Amino acid sequence: MTLGEKQRLFVKLSAEFDLWCYAQGYELTDGEAYRTPEQAALNAANGSGISNSLHTKRLARDKNLFIAGVYQTTSEAHRPLGEYWKSLDPLCRWGGDFRKPDGNHYSMEFQGIQ
Ligand SMILES: [Zn+2]
Repeated sequence: MTLGEKQRLFVKLSAEFDLWCYAQGYELTDGEAYRTPEQAALNAANGSGISNSLHTKRLARDKNLFIAGVYQTTSEAHRPLGEYWKSLDPLCRWGGDFRKPDGNHYSMEFQGIQ
């Protein structure tokens, strides 16, 4: 699958994900989606990210989660959403599984990068 094909699949799966979340009673707002390589390099330099982030490939997005109107700040709160996201495609990854958990991060693996 080319990068372009995967980017378009990512948007389609993201739409399915959003609708599923609302059907479960969750609410979302968009966090960061596309990130420039320049910003990713800055994040890597200050320890808040990696330079080859999938955000720079349009294959990751951060979603802010609200339950009963309350913004959720823990990775654990995202777990049911993360499990659902991973069920959509074998390449779907959830940031809550990372060594340094990042629960609002939903991505698709590309060339071994998660
Ligand atoms: Zn992210």
